[in-house]
Amino acid sequence: MSSLKRILVTGGAGFLGSHLCERLVADGHDVICVDNFFTSQKSNVAHLLAQPNFELLRHDIVHPLWLEVDEIYNLACPAAPGHYQFNPIKTMKTSVMGAINVLGMAKRCRAKVLQASTSEVYGDPEVHPQPESYRGSVNPIGPRACYDEGKRAAETLFMDYHRTNKVNVRIVRIFNTYGPRMHPFDGRVVSNFIRQALCGEPITLFGSGNQTRSFCYRDDLVEGMIRMMAAPDDFVGPVNVGNPAEFTIRELAELAIELTGSGSTIVHRPLPVDDPERRRPDITLAQDRLGWQPTIALREGLARTIDWFRTVNLDDYRAPTPNY
Ligand code: NAD
Ligand code: UDP
Repeated sequence: MSSLKRILVTGGAGFLGSHLCERLVADGHDVICVDNFFTSQKSNVAHLLAQPNFELLRHDIVHPLWLEVDEIYNLACPAAPGHYQFNPIKTMKTSVMGAINVLGMAKRCRAKVLQASTSEVYGDPEVHPQPESYRGSVNPIGPRACYDEGKRAAETLFMDYHRTNKVNVRIVRIFNTYGPRMHPFDGRVVSNFIRQALCGEPITLFGSGNQTRSFCYRDDLVEGMIRMMAAPDDFVGPVNVGNPAEFTIRELAELAIELTGSGSTIVHRPLPVDDPERRRPDITLAQDRLGWQPTIALREGLARTIDWFRTVNLDDYRAPTPNY
């Protein structure tokens, strides 16, 4: 029997989704990319359109979808704070109704389904670094809650479909991931700092800049997701996938300036509400069960990302579409 599969990637035209589609197409699978282009553009997957094993479907995952597939990667959801807070109710609908729709499809097709969850389920963590057993510290009524609680509810749905209907699920908790094809105006720290440095604009450091994040390069992340999908059926997760090297945001700003050779200065802006103070994955579980760990250090990954940003025409990108 062929090991080639029919694979659905929701949010497949986005930053991570487009790289995942690229990898799955290269591996010979029959890939269906579903996206409503809320935070992405067709150019991310334009190079795949000529491939006979790639198909692009404009569809909003809040609405049911009838397809026959063997595996589903559920990535559809705005991920940058500015994007997910743009229409918070829609963000919650996307997480919850999107999860119900892919889980229903997986149940009907007996497909395996992987949820792209997030380190945001840990909120502003009191435990450091964060292991999967930590239950988190999320403000359920703050401006980040539409995303954090939406993703937590999606994890709940995944586990309940697994326990109740025996759906073959996987949950990965993704920590800050960056790389080429990030939306240059998504407001995330890596895209902001690189764009600002290349344009000679001031680098906007929120708060003291002493808050930390751990940055994973996109290729490492895609490898982690694929390994999790291929893991034995008794390992459903959740599993942390991220790079445990921890940096202050000030260090990131200085590195962006150094690697771009920019003359940009640093300016301070207020810290957003509920901005987590520290974040670093404990990846022991991924190492033990998936044999996975990141291979690309921040300096190298940033250099590659900067090379890509230098090729980008910023006029080709727009803000999220109103009325979503
Ligand atoms: P992204 O915004 O580039 O990708 C999300 C994609 O989903 C976009 O193409 C968007 O148009 C699409 N989408 C949004 N709402 C949709 C809907 N209702 N129906 C169909 N498509 C919809 O962001 P990304 O960084 O590539 O994130 C991909 C996934 O990984 C998200 O689920 C995100 O929560 C998760 N994640 C990412 C990170 C990270 O650091 N990049 C960290 C944690 C979790
Ligand atoms: N940040 C910053 N300047 C920016 C954008 C973000 O200092 O222009 C900070 C932000 O306050 C946070 C960190 O960088 O502490 C990471 O922010 P991002 O939005 O990328 O991701 P998240 O907060 O979801 O981890």
